[in-house]
Amino acid sequence: MAIANCRRCGRLFNRVGRDICPQCVKDEDEKLATIRAYLRQHPLANIYEVANGTDVTYDEIVQFIRDGRLLLRNNPNMVYPCERCGTPTQSGRLCANCAKEMARELDRNARGQENDQGRGKGYYSKS
Ligand SMILES: [Zn+2]
Ligand SMILES: [Zn+2]
Repeated sequence: MAIANCRRCGRLFNRVGRDICPQCVKDEDEKLATIRAYLRQHPLANIYEVANGTDVTYDEIVQFIRDGRLLLRNNPNMVYPCERCGTPTQSGRLCANCAKEMARELDRNARGQENDQGRGKGYYSKS
């Protein structure tokens, strides 16, 4: 049994796996259901329109998409800017191009420290 502070509302709760409390899980599930219902009726809506048409904020919607909890299939206008270059994207934090570039960079870093046991710690120093 582990007691933790909810990442979302700060309340103490009995942590079972997620880092948000059951009340927030329920809250988020309801918001997701609202967004999905809205998109079913308005498949061509953009994020601003969904935020206006529901009680979910723009940031929350983007967060859901980035976390992979809101999957977009036939919603071509549900785009938000890539964190790196600003290109409209529909999943993750980066657009397809930046994701590819970041993967290449990571690959290069990994190769540069093949003998390093600390791989995956995110520590990287330029020599
Ligand atoms: Zn909470
Ligand atoms: Zn990008």
